[in-house]
Amino acid sequence: MRAAVIEAPGKVTVTTVPDPTPGPREVVIDVAACGLCGTDLHILQGEFAPTLPVVPGHEFAGEVVGLGSEVTELAIGDRVAVDPSLYCNECRYCRVGRNNLCDRWQAIGVTVAGGAAEYAVAPVANCVRLPDHVDVQDAALIEPLSCAVRGYDVLGSRLGSHVLIYGSGTMGLMMLELAKRTGAASVDVVDVNPERLTTAEKLGCSQAALSAEELGRRGGWDVVVDATGNAAAIQDGLERVAKAGTFLQFGVSDYATTATISPYRIYNEEITITGSMAVLHSYERAAELFATGVLDPQVFISHRLPLTEYPQALDRFAAGQGRKIVVLP
Ligand SMILES: [Zn+2]
Ligand SMILES: [Zn+2]
Repeated sequence: MRAAVIEAPGKVTVTTVPDPTPGPREVVIDVAACGLCGTDLHILQGEFAPTLPVVPGHEFAGEVVGLGSEVTELAIGDRVAVDPSLYCNECRYCRVGRNNLCDRWQAIGVTVAGGAAEYAVAPVANCVRLPDHVDVQDAALIEPLSCAVRGYDVLGSRLGSHVLIYGSGTMGLMMLELAKRTGAASVDVVDVNPERLTTAEKLGCSQAALSAEELGRRGGWDVVVDATGNAAAIQDGLERVAKAGTFLQFGVSDYATTATISPYRIYNEEITITGSMAVLHSYERAAELFATGVLDPQVFISHRLPLTEYPQALDRFAAGQGRKIVVLP
């Protein structure tokens, strides 16, 4: 089959690899669409994936075309979206319910072969069957949405909060949609790219600006979300958290990125700084929310490209063009 392969840091190709075969409790999926995100760029930089080569793609959906010998829950022809998380279920973090922090954390499309391929294999337990009205290509958005749902779980969102989001790429816009749904009093979005801000405005943010300074909110925001991973945005955001507020690190930084905090302010103003990593018991709920139309796929998916253009799609993503880019194997 055809697959994108990250062979070594900086080197990605589309090539032919052996077709996958399912284990007893796995299924083979004919991939309809696979989304690209910052994680794929980090893998390309040599971060996250301890062993290369790997077939990337952790945001995908498709049709079941092969069943392991012990699969009874799914049938050939079922349309599914896939939670990429693979937990050991044995380590301390798994045993205390924090599986996304698993000591032996793995993920489909990160540490094992993923969905940027004609076919992918996944445990039946990771598959969510799609309702008939959900377009299977669009369902590639469920995985990033499940990360945003996890982010909101961490925030424990309170009604009537004033929210500031850095970054109006896919993840920032998903956080905007969830903030609207969870009763924010206002949701402001900041992005250095004015073109991207138009989408945030279209989706109904309260204010959009090139910098938080322009928004002129004295006293700061109850909830500040970084959805950029960018050091300057993070530093600025940390300084905009209101008293008793929470800063959520949601964007993925490079390993080397650092920021400065004021311990006195954290003490004196009871500020919480927290993070949200990938998916934790949030995929099923994201799929259900997605089926209710929480996101407009026509807005969120800006490019649908053939799998053969995977390297160019990554370049396009890295250049900050568009919103969610998906490849169609
Ligand atoms: Zn992703
Ligand atoms: Zn574990």
